[in-house]
Amino acid sequence: MNSNTSKRENAAKAMPLWLKILIGMIAGIAVGATFGPSAEVVKPIGTLFISAIKMLIVPLIFCSLIVGVTSMKDTAKMGRIGLKSILFYLGTTAIAITIGLGLGIFFEPGAGLNMVASVANEAKSAPSLLDTLVGLIPKNPIGALAAGNILQIIVFALGLGIALNLVGEKAQPVIKVFEGFAEAMYKMTELVMKFAPYGVFALMAWVSGKYGLDVLLPLIKVIGLVYFGSILHVLFLGGGLVGLFGRLNPKRFYKGIIEAQVIAFTTTSSSGTLPASIKCATQNLGVSRSISSFVLPMGATINMDGTALYQGVLALFVAQAFGIDLSTADYLTIIATATLASIGTAGVPGAGLIMLSLVLTTVGLPMEGIAIVAGIDRILDMARTTVNVTGDLMVTLLIGKSEGELDLAVFNQEETANTEYRGEVV
Ligand code: ASP
Repeated sequence: MNSNTSKRENAAKAMPLWLKILIGMIAGIAVGATFGPSAEVVKPIGTLFISAIKMLIVPLIFCSLIVGVTSMKDTAKMGRIGLKSILFYLGTTAIAITIGLGLGIFFEPGAGLNMVASVANEAKSAPSLLDTLVGLIPKNPIGALAAGNILQIIVFALGLGIALNLVGEKAQPVIKVFEGFAEAMYKMTELVMKFAPYGVFALMAWVSGKYGLDVLLPLIKVIGLVYFGSILHVLFLGGGLVGLFGRLNPKRFYKGIIEAQVIAFTTTSSSGTLPASIKCATQNLGVSRSISSFVLPMGATINMDGTALYQGVLALFVAQAFGIDLSTADYLTIIATATLASIGTAGVPGAGLIMLSLVLTTVGLPMEGIAIVAGIDRILDMARTTVNVTGDLMVTLLIGKSEGELDLAVFNQEETANTEYRGEVV
């Protein structure tokens, strides 16, 4: 091996993971744009990556949450963190949808389309708030784990963690087992994430090959607006809250979460991004594991800023395309419906489209609107999932800070690639 090759290899080894993932994404776009739909041949590599991260979700959340609770001991503190998270999550979601509505009113993405509605279709069902609340407790915890029902898993893990604490001495061996298991899951996440640049490359090649300009151009205004709104939300609300509320440097925040953002962008699933989000929160941002493993899974399920923003833009797009005027009451209904629907809708690909059908029917907008945008849903889903995950991480960082569970030395470090945060709290 000559010295140039070894120098290049060393440089590749030293390159931080987020940069490799970003390069994978850009290379994927280039390959998709060059080869068009035939770039689909590489999709199995992406599918393999998605399956690998999905494989981690249930055991990772379950074990790390139990360890989080058993290391916290203080149940009042847990209740306070839970309540704070929910308030933060719902508050930012409501702001996001208001931004979406504002952009829709101002830029009129559907103006001039002159569509005519035929019969109103039936809405696809999104779970009602009551159903979600009643369904929080799993009748069969093994069933919840097998089905990957995140809210039910959270409830069971919290209950089991509290019970283990109450049992005391006799439960110590069980706690140790979960601690060992959780460590193994963190390690496994790191191993799977090493594969991320290739998975991201394949997914991007497939998506950009599939959606050529001819598919995108007619809807370019609505796509542009959703992306513009997403960037606004991430930069101003996310950065603003981190800077003003958390008194932390937003640049460090963005640098620490870029891995999770790219994974969210390419997989369009905030649940699927959870292992990467937990890794970013603990290793790059310095939030304690107990906070990360509690607040992030909850966020992946109930916090959907990007999806909410999209609902706002799309509701107005459909109203304008079909020439229907919305009243102030309609706007308020849209804000309330989208915020509440986000609680019960899991962070999986395409969930936002189902929520949109719910929002449209509640204010009497034609369901044909869905058909117009369904074909390009993935493109919009990429933006909204990235915003969703950014929101989850932002709230986790702020809660970590406010609870004194943020390691500022980790948050402020220059290079985050090779450090490992072990969960100790300053
Ligand atoms: N895919 C999004 C997510 O996982 C949900 C949506 O479809 O809006 O967060």
